[in-house]
Amino acid sequence: MPKLSVLFLRNWRQNRFFYPPAVRITSLNYMKNKFYLPVHVLLVVCFCISSIFGQLVNDVSSLLEKPNVKKAFEYIREIEPETIEEQIKLTEIPAPTFQEQKRGLYFKKRFEEIGLSNVRIDSVGNVIGERNGKGGKDAPTLVLAAHLDTVFAMETKLETRREGTIIKLPGISDDGRGLTLLLAIAKTLEKHGIETIGNIIFVANVGEEGLGDLKGVRHLFNVELKDRITHFISIDGAGLGVTTGAVGSKRYRVTFSGRGGHSYGAFGMANPIHAVGRLIAKVSNFQTPVDPKTTFSVGMIRGGTSVNSIARTASFDIDMRSRDPYELSRLDKRFKQNAQAALDEENARWKNKGKIRLDIKLIGDRPTGTQPQDSPIIQVAASANKFMKIENDFGFSSTDSNMPISIGVPAITIDGGGKGKGAHSLDEQWDSKDSHIGSQRALLIALGVVGVQ
Ligand SMILES: [Zn+2]
Repeated sequence: MPKLSVLFLRNWRQNRFFYPPAVRITSLNYMKNKFYLPVHVLLVVCFCISSIFGQLVNDVSSLLEKPNVKKAFEYIREIEPETIEEQIKLTEIPAPTFQEQKRGLYFKKRFEEIGLSNVRIDSVGNVIGERNGKGGKDAPTLVLAAHLDTVFAMETKLETRREGTIIKLPGISDDGRGLTLLLAIAKTLEKHGIETIGNIIFVANVGEEGLGDLKGVRHLFNVELKDRITHFISIDGAGLGVTTGAVGSKRYRVTFSGRGGHSYGAFGMANPIHAVGRLIAKVSNFQTPVDPKTTFSVGMIRGGTSVNSIARTASFDIDMRSRDPYELSRLDKRFKQNAQAALDEENARWKNKGKIRLDIKLIGDRPTGTQPQDSPIIQVAASANKFMKIENDFGFSSTDSNMPISIGVPAITIDGGGKGKGAHSLDEQWDSKDSHIGSQRALLIALGVVGVQ
């Protein structure tokens, strides 16, 4: 099993400006582009060379041979009822994307109470608390994160209803569950005096959902914790799956605009709504690969003045996704070419009488990427699953881990346990039955990455 040394990671990350962003992504499909091939070979060679170093714990059951770790593992199960109460409490604090402050303050207080060091709120609103390891400057630094923000507007009623083990509350699993596990893990490590080799930086981050566009995690990597993070784990939502690859996306707001006028009197003028129609017709005929899954959808459409007017503006929002950077950039290019064609056709149709304009605004840009399935951080998760008798459910998704994966920092997003239903809807519910399994697994994975003294 190849293992990446921390040293190698540091060097690799410090040198990453040698590679353009798309090249840093270890996707098999970028081999279609010959330019990328030599870099791919280089990365594989580097991964192999690095296998002579060992850092991560590849059998997490060995950790439990230490009496204090065993106690901690039992403790996090014992405190599960209070963990669930705290999950409800923090989920009841509204935190729409860009308005996470109140929930953030709750976290700052809790990080301080638990005894984390250097507790702070950074300039974008991420709440950070650190727990230093004993391994010196070459030890790994793990960011353990969960997102503060929800998709629900400030005025949404956040009232808890319980039916047995089921808790009904918007945001209870996404990401009330991940957030509460940050606190449970920090509390457990402090209570049992677990001395880790690597550092753990706990982060309740902003801006994961929708137009947040990974704002919080981008800020961690680019500013607040720049060049410090060697590994990243996000805990997000319910279940027991693990996200190991990043589905990237491009989102645009596309607007056609012109002078507008009377539908009868100004007839002969190019029409923004007709241009939108032309473009959506073209998009709807796009063919994209099933594997790697590559998708597109026009999700919102708006415009017009009245039935008897040629509109001044018409616009729509489009979301395009792929787990493959090459396919995503191909789709992106195709979309822009078609947008230009729709504009030209509409203007040509009316012989340039009252020309319209096109504006394409980027409203979301999540990077894509994969990492080798035998990468050490994934192996730690597999080892924890094996120990906990959880079947491996590894897949691709769009999460805060997109950012680190896209720049070559090992990262996974793990589910927090229990069973969720109706995420992103007002009917969201979470079944807490056996949810301690998620808590125990998250603790083991975190300790497997940083190691224990
Ligand atoms: Zn989430």
